[in-house]
Amino acid sequence: MASQTALINRAIAMHLLREGQFGVASTFIREAHPQSETSSSSTQAQRPPSITISRPDTPPDAMITDADIPSDLTAFQSQALQEKFAGMYSILTSLRQRDLHPAIGWARENSTELEARGSNLEFELCRLQFVWLFKGPLVNGLPATEDNGVQGALKYAQANFGRFQQRHLREIQRLTCAMVYVSNLAESPYSTIFDISLAFDEVASSFTREFCSLLGLSAESPLYVAVTAGALALPNLVKWTGINKAKNTEWTTQNELAFETPLPKSMLYHSIFVCPVSRGQTTDTNPPMILPCGHVLANESLHKLAKGIRYKCPYCPSEGVVKDAKKIIL
Ligand SMILES: [Zn+2]
Repeated sequence: MASQTALINRAIAMHLLREGQFGVASTFIREAHPQSETSSSSTQAQRPPSITISRPDTPPDAMITDADIPSDLTAFQSQALQEKFAGMYSILTSLRQRDLHPAIGWARENSTELEARGSNLEFELCRLQFVWLFKGPLVNGLPATEDNGVQGALKYAQANFGRFQQRHLREIQRLTCAMVYVSNLAESPYSTIFDISLAFDEVASSFTREFCSLLGLSAESPLYVAVTAGALALPNLVKWTGINKAKNTEWTTQNELAFETPLPKSMLYHSIFVCPVSRGQTTDTNPPMILPCGHVLANESLHKLAKGIRYKCPYCPSEGVVKDAKKIIL
């Protein structure tokens, strides 16, 4: 990667931005591109007034302005991304303080895109808000008004759950039926819904995932994943190199490791599918197709295998019609 300095710098800057380290990111971007510094300060006078972004919990000296970003870095839209991430961090800060409103507002604004992705985020957030109000002032610390406690939760449900009725009717019924057990929730069949010890962390991570995916980014920082996976592979690499040195042999495969690296499930990606029939890698024009029996073939193989509209699965006794096979998106 030594020849790809720009890409590596971009990965580092992106990592810092998505971690909310805006001050560090801006210094890094500036120092990684010292040649543009003079040009950026000379054009500063003609720049429009700076937009100042700060996290609510950062001191003023960590504030950055668009003048901090060298102009040649607009290539990767660091300023725009920075603003987006600042928005994300302000919502996450509110979530940490048990305030769901900004997150619900964001989910509502983006509900069309979220629904298209099959995300339940908006409902998850509203459900948690219901439970949070239900717990009452002693737990949630909100003023003891008619908008809090069981009454407040019911009011919230009436105002907000209507839009989810089609997709989440059963869960809404369970939430509202729990009212009956209000004096003895812990021993009721509904105790699990009302145990919210992990719920805020869970909605925070689904929020981060959805937010990044709407930006076209992965939920985890690619740099974090690459470095962690590399660190996990390192002991085996050291061992392997040691053995090879002792045997005086050399590593000949250029692009792959000669051993398996045990990675956690969260780091396993299946972006590649090799058709078991044609032995070829699937592509956008020849995508993998899943048959109702659960076996997967490349589209071309399936059509070659099918006699007309019917096919016989090469891996199990089941038969069916080609149009029941579904395309898999990796
Ligand atoms: Zn099959």
